[in-house]
Parts: sequence; C-alpha cells; structure tokens
Amino acid sequence: MGPNNHSNTIDFDAAKLQRLGYATRPQPLKPIGLAQLRQQLNLQLQTSLEMDRILELFYREVQRLVPLDALGYQLATYNLRIELGERANHSAGYRLCHDGEYMGELIFRRSQRFSEDELGMLESLLASLLFPLRNALLYRAAVLSALRDPLTDTGNRLALTQSLQREVDLARRNLQPLSVLMLDIDHFKQINDMHGHAYGDEVLKAVAETMRDQLRNVDMAFRYGGEEFLILLSGTGREAASLVGERLRNAVQNLQCLNQHQAIMVSISLGCATLLPGESPDSLLRRADSALYAAKRSGRNRLNMAG
Ligand code: GH3
Ligand code: MG
Ligand code: MG
Repeated sequence: MGPNNHSNTIDFDAAKLQRLGYATRPQPLKPIGLAQLRQQLNLQLQTSLEMDRILELFYREVQRLVPLDALGYQLATYNLRIELGERANHSAGYRLCHDGEYMGELIFRRSQRFSEDELGMLESLLASLLFPLRNALLYRAAVLSALRDPLTDTGNRLALTQSLQREVDLARRNLQPLSVLMLDIDHFKQINDMHGHAYGDEVLKAVAETMRDQLRNVDMAFRYGGEEFLILLSGTGREAASLVGERLRNAVQNLQCLNQHQAIMVSISLGCATLLPGESPDSLLRRADSALYAAKRSGRNRLNMAG
C-alpha cells in the first residue's frame, strides 16, 4: 500500500482511546496517586479485548506510580507468552486467579529491587487487570473455536477461506510457490456402515493426527468437508508437494486401526495442485478437487497431480 493510501480498517481500540484523550499524550505519563491510577486503569483496560493491548496499557499506566523495566505474562494453556520492556534482575511474580480459575502468571521486572511499599501498590493495581484479562481470554477462546473443527482439531472452512487467501497473497508477493493437497478417506461410508458412526469418528481423528505428525508446523490442515481435508503447503513447489502427499498416503495406509481386534484398512486418495501465476484461490481448489476425483476414479489409495 502506498504512503497516501489510508487503510479502511477501523482500529477500534485506538478509536476509543482517542476519545478518552490518551493517544496524543506524550510519554512518559504524569505520575499520579494510587486511587486515581486505579480509576484510570479501570477506564482504559476495558477499551480492548486484545491481550497484547491490555498488557501494554497496563504496563504503561502502572509506571506512573511504580517504575518498571519489563512486564511478562504467560498462560501455557492458551499458548500465550507476552514480554514487554527489557529483562532485568529483580522480579515479582503473581499467579492470577479469578473464581478459582487460573488466568496466567504476571511478572514485574526491574534492575532495582522493589520496596515493600511498591509491591503493595502493584498488588493493589493487579485487581484492575483481572476482569479485562478474563474478558480477553474468553474472547480469544471464542475466536479460536470459531475457526476450528472440534472433532479433528484442524481448521474449519472459515479458517481455510481466510488462510488460503492470505497464503495466495503472500506467495504472489514473495514469488514463492504454494501447493495444496486435497485428500479424502477411501470408502469411508463402508467404515461407518460396518463399524458404526462413533468408530468412523475415531478414524477421522486418527487420520487428522497422522496429518499433523507428518507435516511441518507451517503447513496448515483444514477439514474441508465430512471426510475430506485440505492441506496448505506454503513455500512448496510441485515436486516437494508430491513427496509430502505420498508420505501422507503411506502413513495413513500404515495406520493400525482396530475395532474389537478386527483390523480395518484405511486409505486416502489425494489431489495436488500448485498455484499458477495469477490464479485465484477458487481455481486452485477446483484443480486440486479434479485431481482428487481422478485419483478416486483410477483406483483410490493414490496421489494424483493436477495438470
Ligand atoms: P470414496 O472412496 O469415493 O470417497 O467413498 P466414501 O464412502 O468415502 O464417500 P462418500 O462421500 O460416499 O461417503 C462419505 C461418508 O462420510 C458419508 C458420511 O456419512 C460420512 N461422514 C461425513 N462426516 C462424518 C463424520 O463427521 N463422522 C462420521 N463418522 N462419518 C462422517
Ligand atoms: Mg471418501
Ligand atoms: Mg468425500
């Protein structure tokens, strides 16, 4: 985007802050007393649902009363780790809990030791962080679950649409290859019919698990339909994508699926397509789908490359 082009995206956090009159205030902020600061925090922290933003505001505001060199926050179950400022020798860490629910650990750091007085003030200010933090966590969980398929823990269709557009844009901008694999479990209806729907679900989970085992982290797997998945292979050309697909096909074929001691053969068919210059995301998917269809027609348990 050129320098004269303004984005149409409204930054609601910034918008609200501007209304409150903080955005233009020069750094560092004027020192204020504890009671006043708590009031400020209560006002400001509710202006955002983004964890980073809330912690940034907290970090900045708290320093009007207690100087800090850094603030750290982590919550492993949410895959969250945020560090603001420079690391320093002295630290005071707090486990945050609300209604018995663990909400992560917050660490204040400074090169100079904290006094008892300062620790008392920090603890008092922490109370203003709890509700905004809890709301941000709920929001984060909602956003994440809106993009995931709960059964297989892969991305859902909505996530695919977003990621695919982004990856196509990135590939074009960086002149990098992008390939997709569309895969479908063979004769899955038979598995359901013979062993029950619940067992079919287990097979779906096992196939998704195998995909995750076989893929690099940056590769993204999505549930495309009932027993159909799509994998985005960023930075991957035709040859490499075909190797990944073949490896995946093999791994699924080697899955040891048992139902009451009875071995069940599971296999997948795959279609592979690599982005062409100027091609749309839809067209890329269509070509992968046709390649998959051809793999089915020519006998299943095989990979077919789009022309
Ligand atoms: P093909 O080899 O041609 O792909 O045959 P198929 O039997 O796999 O294909 P078909 O499309 O006829 O059947 C897909 C089946 O997948 C039908 C549907 O009931 C089942 N299915 C879709 N979603 C789920 C699910 O979430 N759980 C289970 N257990 N079955 C599902
Ligand atoms: Mg199938
Ligand atoms: Mg299918």
